[in-house]
Amino acid sequence: MNNQLFSDYVGITRYAGVPTEQTTGRLHYNENLYGPSPQCMETLNSLTLEDISLYESNEKDELLEALSAETKIPVENLFLNNGSAENIKSILSVFTKRGDTILLPDPGWSYYTGIANYKFLNIVLYKIKEGSTKCYHDVSQIKELAYVHQPKVIFITTPAMPTGNKISDEDLLDIIHSFPDTLILVDEAYLGFSEYTLDPVKIIETYDNVVFSRTFSKYYGLANLRIGYGFASTALKNILWLDMPLHRLPHVNKRMAIAALQDKEYYLAITEELLKTRDQFSARLNNIENVKVYESDANFVYVRLIGYDVEKIKKITDGAGYLIRIFTSNNEKYLRITIGTKEIMDAFTDVLVETILASKL
Ligand code: PMP
Repeated sequence: MNNQLFSDYVGITRYAGVPTEQTTGRLHYNENLYGPSPQCMETLNSLTLEDISLYESNEKDELLEALSAETKIPVENLFLNNGSAENIKSILSVFTKRGDTILLPDPGWSYYTGIANYKFLNIVLYKIKEGSTKCYHDVSQIKELAYVHQPKVIFITTPAMPTGNKISDEDLLDIIHSFPDTLILVDEAYLGFSEYTLDPVKIIETYDNVVFSRTFSKYYGLANLRIGYGFASTALKNILWLDMPLHRLPHVNKRMAIAALQDKEYYLAITEELLKTRDQFSARLNNIENVKVYESDANFVYVRLIGYDVEKIKKITDGAGYLIRIFTSNNEKYLRITIGTKEIMDAFTDVLVETILASKL
């Protein structure tokens, strides 16, 4: 096969997650291992044949209404998509064309790069910096690169992935305000694991160059249902809407998302447990010489290990049934570890501490 049509795509590969058959010990995907509200399964069990045989065609979208009630963001500013990964793809599809530049965090989610590559975009990376106990967005570096490269889109992941740090409200507003002709994409996939102090309604009323992207995959534990949403000024949202799914989201998925939104108590309880578990896990690792767990605002941690064989650590913990991720930054290897239930993390910590100690270079 050598059709001229395909020539642009030689060497371009599709982004793929890590293929994983095992359903336990998954500390590599940042899923919510506490699981979704039991109300979601009850809702699933109550579905009728009509719920799956008819097109999604109601004038009002029940999930948009529920999200609006929950977030106070007006319905006309909200949109739904098949997961927040699709939000990102739609935003790039609508607002970029071949040869445009986008500004991405490094380290960051490699899916961003995967899409940029097949859309033939130029990527400029800004560094997420390491402070003494926490990583941070270096706003002056982001602004400098944006002035020089004039990107179409600036990606701000907050909390950042894999480093786990939030950008400050002040810094985010500074970026939005400084580049009115650049789209600022704020990826809030890991929302809910730390305090939220922004006033997003005010931001989208004031600025029309910003779009927020969120998901039910992390905090709400519904990754498999592929429910993403976002919001922007009405004008921007209406343009993004052009690229959104024809029938919005499956009714079944939306019903489960609504059930999750209603069960606030459950999510507050599991999140409290998760954060306590994260802090205990971090404290134990931080006791090991030359191991630093950066403070996190998310459901995972980023770990620097100086003088240890990080590949060997992963190999051993994989073998013990616990999957974790390696990220490379500044030619150094770091671990990203999802925080699971207390039970999983207690058992894993014992394995990991022993493995790290046995992996000194
Ligand atoms: N943004 C970031 C930074 C992520 O890490 C992920 C999940 N890996 C997503 C977005 C996408 O999540 P989903 O497509 O499940 O909504």
